[in-house]
Amino acid sequence: MPKLTVTFLGTSSAAPTKGRGLPAIAVQREGSVILLDCGEGVQRQVLSQGVGLNKEMSILITHLHGDHVTGLLGLLQTMGMAQRSKPLSIVGPRNLLNWLTVTAELLGIGLPFQLNFFPARAGTVLRTKDFRVRATKAAHSVEAYCYIVEEKDRPGVFHPEKARALGVPEGRLWSALQRGRKVQAGGRTVVPSDVMGPSRSGRRIGYSGDTRPSARLERFFSKCDLLIFDSTFHGKDRDKALERKHSTCLEAAELAKNAKVRRLALTHFSARYTSVGSLVRQARSVFPETIAARDGLRLEVDYPGS
Ligand SMILES: [Zn+2]
Ligand SMILES: [Zn+2]
Repeated sequence: MPKLTVTFLGTSSAAPTKGRGLPAIAVQREGSVILLDCGEGVQRQVLSQGVGLNKEMSILITHLHGDHVTGLLGLLQTMGMAQRSKPLSIVGPRNLLNWLTVTAELLGIGLPFQLNFFPARAGTVLRTKDFRVRATKAAHSVEAYCYIVEEKDRPGVFHPEKARALGVPEGRLWSALQRGRKVQAGGRTVVPSDVMGPSRSGRRIGYSGDTRPSARLERFFSKCDLLIFDSTFHGKDRDKALERKHSTCLEAAELAKNAKVRRLALTHFSARYTSVGSLVRQARSVFPETIAARDGLRLEVDYPGS
């Protein structure tokens, strides 16, 4: 089965630290990439983490705070210089396109590839060969969105005994049925549903961007295989989280628990914490399947029960 990998390119909030860059995450599946946010420095991380500049790629921007978006222009410019030829899709708040257009014009940046912009809104915002992306409004100090990157449904379980009983010989015809095609065998037409179970949903990765937690987001992120959530503050600094419209590690863990996700990755840490050990320990007291993201961390997302 295809690998689904999440690589953290930047895990700080607001300003970079010696060890952490600004927010950016790469989701990779069979040569196609979805980038979540583009903090300053993202292009260097894209190169050093082997993500690549000429892949089939889409970029999802959560909101127009500098720490999440200022890396985008440099990344596009470098893609242009690398003679990227494939079109690139970008999803984000409507004003993102204005910012890109004005700045690219001022700096004389022309792109040799097609750029498709989709304004973010609640609902399905993008479909690619491998993924469907859904968005919902976040609760932040400016217009902001949360995203779910969802692998397309995969075919149901193949039942060899049913195929044999219907007179379909093993080999080429079995693989045709598994690919969703009907076949002729034993003097009749056999369709995939005769020999396969119902299709199974793909793996789901949720990304909060910057937000306060809410019951609505709990429902949105329900049963994600991996949830990447705003953990700017320690639980003891909840007053700051409230004031700046962020979440604490404890709130992220409570939401993950209520949403029944499989795994939680905390990210977007405030530079005030030189170590995030106590944040992850506090979160694990509520939701044990918690890890703290760090720059360069790579996670594989598997199917439930595998
Ligand atoms: Zn931020
Ligand atoms: Zn923000």
